[in-house]
Amino acid sequence: MSMPLRVSMRIGAHLMKQKLRGNKKFPLLVELEPLFACNLKCAGCGKIQHPASVLKQRMPVEQAITAIEEANAPMVSIAGGEPLMHPQIDVITSELIKRKKFVFLCTNALLMAKKIDKFTPSPYFRWVVHIDGLRERHDESVSKEGVFDEATAAIRMAKERGFKVNTNTTFFNTDTPQAVIDVLDYLNDELEVDDMQISPGYAYEKAPDQEHFLGVTETRELFRKAFADGRRKKWRLMHTPLFLDFLEGKVDYECTAWGIPSYSLFGWQKPCYLMSDGYVPTYKELVETTEWEKYGRGKDPRCANCMAHCGYEPSAVIGTMTSLKESIRALRES
Ligand code: SF4
Ligand code: SF4
Repeated sequence: MSMPLRVSMRIGAHLMKQKLRGNKKFPLLVELEPLFACNLKCAGCGKIQHPASVLKQRMPVEQAITAIEEANAPMVSIAGGEPLMHPQIDVITSELIKRKKFVFLCTNALLMAKKIDKFTPSPYFRWVVHIDGLRERHDESVSKEGVFDEATAAIRMAKERGFKVNTNTTFFNTDTPQAVIDVLDYLNDELEVDDMQISPGYAYEKAPDQEHFLGVTETRELFRKAFADGRRKKWRLMHTPLFLDFLEGKVDYECTAWGIPSYSLFGWQKPCYLMSDGYVPTYKELVETTEWEKYGRGKDPRCANCMAHCGYEPSAVIGTMTSLKESIRALRES
């Protein structure tokens, strides 16, 4: 698996514990959204459309930590909104690291230079910088010129200071296989980020741009062509080989959105961070009161084009960790 060995081992141990306890649904990673406000206005964003009264709210540190402790996931991805706009984001991060959670702090990087002194490199911490393409494509995606240059400068600065830095790239139906190849080659070989995460865009109901999201057939074709000729193995993609097989259409899975749940200002979101069919105060209630069998492709029309990691990466991780053959393959490809 192209994941750091320390993370893979922790997930393996977590899965083993859940099995011994007889837990059938449990989180691998929590998407923590401690605010919805952002300093950008990307066309595909489903978060910044909330009313001003919501956008000005910030989740208290104690609330964030209590939620993560209750869910007991080994990994936390802090997103938003723009997490660096939260005045206590460094405290939330360090409290989670103290509890030995692997923290991925997702950012558009515009505030990294200003805030980086509040953070310390740690094997439990990674920056995850949003880069949707090369300069013109990324600036168009975030609807602002100059952001690509600021983000890449911030990545270089963070690496010079000893931080691990990942990138997160979302692809849309305006992207060609060559565009995917060009940006991943750049991030892998020139910028030399530690690992890259990729995702097909999901059509949030609230997103202003509904035209440019990928359907399942288009997603499979895009990734099959982009991954061809051994490129997939060359890139440091932080996904299981099975999830990449899934993106290419070589395997298919049921949605297991309980594995990457979302906790925001409203509570635990049903059934996943892409849709909002209600909120509950605890992860336990999320698991017990969500009708999971009603979600996934072929079940709910809103899921028809979804191949997002929050629904399908847990399926791939569990498929990897519960198969000796796939575990060996994941280690070989890492
Ligand atoms: S940077 Fe992220 S949170 Fe901010 S507008 Fe863009 S997609 Fe939304
Ligand atoms: S398929 Fe799963 S992850 Fe995707 S939108 Fe539906 S419930 Fe959410």
